[in-house]
Amino acid sequence: MAIWNLGSINIDMVYALPHMPEPGETLAASSFDQGLGGKGANMSVAAARAGAHACHIGAVGPEGKWTVDRLTEYGVDTRYIAQLDTATGHAIIAVDPSGENQIILYPGANRALTEDQIGQALTAANAGDILLMQNETNMQAEAARIGHQLGLRVAYAAAPFDAEAVQAVLPFIDLLFLNEVEAAQLQAATGKAPQDLGVDDVIVTLGAKGARHFNGRDGSKIDVPAQRVTPVDTTGAGDTFTGYVLAALDRGLPMAQAMTQASRAGALMVTRHGAADVIPDLKEVQEAKF
Ligand code: ATP
Repeated sequence: MAIWNLGSINIDMVYALPHMPEPGETLAASSFDQGLGGKGANMSVAAARAGAHACHIGAVGPEGKWTVDRLTEYGVDTRYIAQLDTATGHAIIAVDPSGENQIILYPGANRALTEDQIGQALTAANAGDILLMQNETNMQAEAARIGHQLGLRVAYAAAPFDAEAVQAVLPFIDLLFLNEVEAAQLQAATGKAPQDLGVDDVIVTLGAKGARHFNGRDGSKIDVPAQRVTPVDTTGAGDTFTGYVLAALDRGLPMAQAMTQASRAGALMVTRHGAADVIPDLKEVQEAKF
């Protein structure tokens, strides 16, 4: 089976600054790093590294071709990524000596997807494949509807959180991923607990407290503890968790086992600096000692 991920691809540009710039101030950065980012890209890499056939549906501009090569190198099927004549999505990340950051995000090509491109890509999908989305592209509701009609298992990670965006996809999705803050925001917006949203499987990640699954069919819950680690950088932990859960479900593992594997992958991620470039593969996750 395959995981189809309609998702963002960003160029993350990270600048180390002596302090955050004041209005009108020009500051020289002491270092510069460029990497592959975007929640969509992270989740595709996580699913691929977990052993799934991950097909990324997205778009980049002319200066972003290397991001597609990087995804290919990590095992992602990149045939459904459009090359457009517009800027690649990018994040300009300023970090001060205390580790505090400020981010300018330009969605660019990530918001230039068309319903046609998505429909075209999904003609190669089979019933029972998984379709995943997050809130960093356009066309989420359209994709969810198409995926639902095709008999795909539709999953949505409600990040970055937007109450309207998640409510637009709720009627079409089978699986919903939220972190603790997003779960509270969604409950405030809908007045409904996770198990009452009409979604079969809702997973709420709780950082160092683990993760909880709410079964929307029978109201039952599964709690999965987190591994004990010393975190150095939590970037990408949630995205890695999501990719790993879906890859395990795609392989036919039951939910509790899928979440346990994902929690081991998430724990490894928080011990590493970086995002897509440092997502562990399945062997590392299975062999890690906590
Ligand atoms: P982020 O936005 O930082 O990527 P998130 O808020 O979407 O993350 P979290 O709930 O912080 O997601 O983390 C996802 C999963 O990763 C957790 O459910 C847990 O399994 C693992 N994890 C995260 N933080 C820790 C930690 N400090 N120790 C152990 N495991 C962790």
